Amino acid sequence: MTAGDIQGTPETRLEAVRETMARAAKKAGRDTGEIELIAISKTHDADAIRPLLDAGQRVFGENRVQEAQAKWPELRDAYSDVELHLVGQLQSNKAADAVELFDAIHSVDRPSLVKALKKAFANTERRPMLFVQVDIGEEEQKGGCAIDALPAFLDRCREAGLEIAGLMCVPPLDTEPAPYFALLAKLAKENRLAALSMGMSGDYETAVMCGATHVRVGTALFGARGG
Ligand SMILES: *Cc1c(COP(=O)(O)O)cnc(C)c1O
Repeated sequence: MTAGDIQGTPETRLEAVRETMARAAKKAGRDTGEIELIAISKTHDADAIRPLLDAGQRVFGENRVQEAQAKWPELRDAYSDVELHLVGQLQSNKAADAVELFDAIHSVDRPSLVKALKKAFANTERRPMLFVQVDIGEEEQKGGCAIDALPAFLDRCREAGLEIAGLMCVPPLDTEPAPYFALLAKLAKENRLAALSMGMSGDYETAVMCGATHVRVGTALFGARGG
């Protein structure tokens, strides 16, 4: 999707995304109420985010801890029931900050981060919802736990006292995403995990058809991110 595809106001875009989700859910025989829309607001400033808040959207996602720390405290003061998700790679030295700020972390993917989260949990009552990111296309550069290593990694999370709600993935670019979404759904089922974070602006409809419980949509709501 490019900037040229973006039309209408933030309100009408939100409505269009929600309608697309509802249509896909219906086709798949699912209840649209069980699918959370996370509005990915990375790179967009508070002025761009406020219209979506005013239109009723309350669940947002960011991919950098520092950017979220700079932007969200003020918005949260004005809109108290905001839920904030971290969808980007998390450095271990930012784990404690992430636990304080975010209500969900979608990028638990390696033992060093499990250790850092365990340590952070020792110092706070906060318990964000946790997703294990899976390297679904076996692309080393993308981060995520290798498919083969997933059962052992989930055991390690449990041993560290981290309750994992589900799995997250970003399929390879420019390929048909459905087989990757189906694989993530299969892995979640095998490991008895209920939540599935998958689907972005270009493919959230497909993701909903494949069982997504959380879709992460940026461009279709905000327009293209500045280059
Ligand atoms: C940026 C981002 C998104 C949103 O992507 P769009 O194509 O703009 O909808 C979703 N998930 C992750 C992990 C992201 O980094």
